[in-house]
Amino acid sequence: MQMLLMTPGPTNVPERVLEKMKNTQCHHRTKEFGRIFGELNEGLKYVFQTKNPVLTFPAAGTGGLEAAIVNLFSPGDRVLAVSIGVFGDRFIEIGRTFGLEIDVLEIPWGRGATLEELEGALKDEHRALILTHNETSTGAVNPIREIGEWMKEKPQLYVVDAVSSLGGSEIRMDDWHIDVLITASQKALMSPPGLTFIGVSDQGWEQVEKAKLPRYYWDFKKARKDMEKPSPQNPYTPAVALIGAASEAIKMMQEEGLEAVFERHRILAAYFRQEVEKLGLPFYTHPDYLSDTITAIATTKGEEIKKIMETKYGIVIAGGQDQLKGTMIRVGHMGYVNQEMIDRTLTALKGALEEVC
Ligand SMILES: *Cc1c(COP(=O)(O)O)cnc(C)c1O
Repeated sequence: MQMLLMTPGPTNVPERVLEKMKNTQCHHRTKEFGRIFGELNEGLKYVFQTKNPVLTFPAAGTGGLEAAIVNLFSPGDRVLAVSIGVFGDRFIEIGRTFGLEIDVLEIPWGRGATLEELEGALKDEHRALILTHNETSTGAVNPIREIGEWMKEKPQLYVVDAVSSLGGSEIRMDDWHIDVLITASQKALMSPPGLTFIGVSDQGWEQVEKAKLPRYYWDFKKARKDMEKPSPQNPYTPAVALIGAASEAIKMMQEEGLEAVFERHRILAAYFRQEVEKLGLPFYTHPDYLSDTITAIATTKGEEIKKIMETKYGIVIAGGQDQLKGTMIRVGHMGYVNQEMIDRTLTALKGALEEVC
């Protein structure tokens, strides 16, 4: 049975993207690869909505978070990090691992931060504000556009983890004054796992010049120098086939149009939640902070529901992470997702509920 991946990553990959991956088998020091990589780089600027180059590394999203930390900071730098869930905590843990002094603004899980909360927490001595856009563990979003408007006049770098939203919910890196924006291939970007993408603003690059944390594999300057060659390259062996896949996936997004992609996600998320409500299930997330790419449903029967949906219906969803285990199920509706997939998921959820109740 072909499983339907309705998890918050990895997500379903279209046949066209898999086909392209299969057919991208060139050597990475050839013009042919340079052409494919160049196409990806241009496409990434479009999905990030930025004029600056977007870097690609073969890694999980977590690698992208670590890469950002080691390229932007020096030991002992003080930053403010906002945590609204497991992924906010992870970013903090990475920063601390590399010796940053992190002040944490803890927001009760299930919602996003407010500007008032941030205003009281960001201090002159902070070099950056770090936060998660779409908190995949709780289904809540931070209002990054509003925060970006507020950050515009501030000297601190604005660093955003958008691993589970970029390509699914509206994000405009340049217009929203984001300095460093991190995502990965396997969530809303319709590609297999294995690539992380990082956009860096002009102010971000100034900071990269000054930052002293050790780095080798993750070196942004080396990566940029190679990607800006007439035939774009990578310092080390890139994930050639995945680059072909991601480039094709972004081509599909360009054909659909970014606005239409966002609209599809908004409509499907609203429809899915409306139907879930009809089943009498409560949401974990505060209604003012709902994500367009993932829904967290509060239930203590998550493990049983998950198992039935998977074995009987071929639909994979996720449970709660870490301390949220046993409190919820999470359904991803991002990337290559359509009405029919949502309906199949709802049918399976309904069937599973009938069995467990
Ligand atoms: C999935 C995710 C990550 C980590 O991505 P991996 O590829 O699993 O390392 C980081 N942040 C957010 C918000 C995510 O959803």
